[in-house]
Amino acid sequence: MEGNGHSPENEMNDPGKLFVKTFGCQMNVYDTEKIYAFLQDSYVPAASEEEADVIILNTCSIREKAEQKVYSLLGRIKPLKDVKPNLLIGVGGCVAQQEGERILRRSPAVDIVFGTHNVDELPRLLEERIKFGKRVCRVREDTGTVPTSDAPRVMGSKRATALLTIMKGCDNYCAYCVVPLVRGREASRPAPEILDEAIFLVENGVREITLLGQNVNSYHDPDTGAGFVSLLESMELVPGLERLRFVTSHPKDFSPELAHAMADLSSVCEHIHLPVQAGSDRVLSAMKRGYSSRQYMDKIELLTKLIPEVEFTTDFIVGFPGEKRVDFERTLDMLSVVKYQNAFSFRFSPRPGTAAAAMEDPVDAEVKRPWLPELQNLQNQVTAEKHQNMVGREVEVLVESVDKKKSCFLEGRTRTNYIVHFPGDSALIGQMVQVKLASSRTIHLIGEMVN
Ligand code: SAM
Ligand code: SF4
Repeated sequence: MEGNGHSPENEMNDPGKLFVKTFGCQMNVYDTEKIYAFLQDSYVPAASEEEADVIILNTCSIREKAEQKVYSLLGRIKPLKDVKPNLLIGVGGCVAQQEGERILRRSPAVDIVFGTHNVDELPRLLEERIKFGKRVCRVREDTGTVPTSDAPRVMGSKRATALLTIMKGCDNYCAYCVVPLVRGREASRPAPEILDEAIFLVENGVREITLLGQNVNSYHDPDTGAGFVSLLESMELVPGLERLRFVTSHPKDFSPELAHAMADLSSVCEHIHLPVQAGSDRVLSAMKRGYSSRQYMDKIELLTKLIPEVEFTTDFIVGFPGEKRVDFERTLDMLSVVKYQNAFSFRFSPRPGTAAAAMEDPVDAEVKRPWLPELQNLQNQVTAEKHQNMVGREVEVLVESVDKKKSCFLEGRTRTNYIVHFPGDSALIGQMVQVKLASSRTIHLIGEMVN
């Protein structure tokens, strides 16, 4: 056998060990599960990088920091090759799609680079690397389909909850965003394929599914043209599926029909992640988001009217090119009015190839620097207040896992997305339990089971 690779004979008798490190969003978490599935005939999961025969980095390029993390991890795992010369290192995901061959040039330890449209080719690429000993870079053009659709059906890492990708790519071209460049055009999976996967998951014990897409509200069955509401109605009929969530909803495509469906369908949870990005109309327009702050608020008000207990979470970008203090204050206003349960907030990061990367910014970076912590402090206060308001209530919790920090505690979630910790036995994972909330912490609530 040429080159450094896991020996094929070894593969036949004794499967190798695979470690996939996920960067970024839930879509990457789902793709990582599919990478394990595609390679399940030859590799079993490894507990750490150190024990792996193959390490795959499933990367994210949404912000510069995410990209830097990939290169610093590559630097850290490179010495593993000194102790295990047959170790293979692969880089996939958005950074791979964008950087391609450059990764091979910059990081000699990398054996395989595969783009976002090549995930399904990974078993072949590994084989190629092992057989021919040459480093491989395969970054193909957009195929117009969801590349993980044909992955063998396997259960994800969690037992009670699962992610399910319904579409890939994005056609929105928000001025700051690299997703359309690295994930390609939007394409939806046929509904029957999604429903089959959902039935498989529920038959294997899953009680809550989160549908995934960059803009789920514009989902369209490629064969029938049926939209997202119709998909939710079909999911409602999956026997045994108790909770249904979806991310991400683009506010411009969030229709009153969808708000009514959320209120009417009993499986759909009373929580929605509705990324606003900014509160200023000037900034929203420069971002090319396709809605005004008033239009966004109309959707929030309709949802609150139809589902009084609904909780909102969001994403904010702070310091977009040309954003002034007066604009930033509109974002603070939005936060205070909506009272988000939680928010992911980011400093604007110019991404290569996006419209915003080429925009002039007359506002001094030093002026903007304190804005992100200011926003985060305000959100923390709102979150703390909301958590405090929950104390004393009894809630239904789907038990998801053992608390990572305290093994005699369990962790679960309410339908409205509050994270709850409480003492209990791991046999309860996958069960719905009633919990009386006794106190609150920064990101979770603490309680006691009542039955
Ligand atoms: N498709 C979703 C939407 O439109 O709301 C979001 C997708 S993106 C993977 C997740 C979040 O990353 C965005 O909502 C945005 O807040 C943030 N983000 C994207 N590009 C960014 C950039 N260049 N700088 C800072 N944050 C960014
Ligand atoms: Fe990016 Fe905008 Fe598409 Fe979301 S909707 S993925 S922010 S381009």
